Amino acid sequence: MAGVRKFTFNPFQVNTYVVYDDNKECVIIDPGCSDGVELLQLMDFIKEEDLKPVHLLLTHTHIDHVMGCNAVEEMTGLGPELHEAGMVFLNHSTDTADTYGLNLDRNPEPKGFIKEGEVIEFGTTKLEVLYTPGHADGSICFLNRDEGWVIVGDVLFQMSIGRTDFPTGSFDVLKQSIFEKLFVLPDDTVVYSGHGPETSIGFEKANNPFLLDENAMY
Ligand SMILES: [Zn+2]
Repeated sequence: MAGVRKFTFNPFQVNTYVVYDDNKECVIIDPGCSDGVELLQLMDFIKEEDLKPVHLLLTHTHIDHVMGCNAVEEMTGLGPELHEAGMVFLNHSTDTADTYGLNLDRNPEPKGFIKEGEVIEFGTTKLEVLYTPGHADGSICFLNRDEGWVIVGDVLFQMSIGRTDFPTGSFDVLKQSIFEKLFVLPDDTVVYSGHGPETSIGFEKANNPFLLDENAMY
């Protein structure tokens, strides 16, 4: 069994997840920590649970999801792993941080790239990688099929969807990602989003106002 621990960090209130296996290995997803206090919150949890971080993963590379990459790398030695298409944002992280009045001293450097269909394994936990562009190029989801949950970044939220007005965003592409990659999952699949509370595939299929009408305009 995997545990999922959520932290909410930085002025954008991004959800950072620690997924940990019974064997005490863990992965950190979307390190949003923006200062020493948030970094300590994350690292204290890992220390208290006696976890060993083995991967640092990104659902996508918007600034709010990558702000803690450098600090987490300094603490754990793990560089971020991401979809290669996300380099378009990662390469401009310091500039983007500047425009929001945030401080980032260098662009995070990728340790490796992840492709759709890859499986990230630690202990007995398996995370399947789904490619889900539309909010941002390079967006991926991490699906634990055995346990029925998926970490989706900013693709899908409770009663909402990711913004599509940033560069590389497209409502049509996002809708296609959601319908073809997420709405094919069982209804009771738990959805852990990049912002806000968790939801489920069945609830969003029935209630998400952006996805009820096939012809809805955004
Ligand atoms: Zn985003």
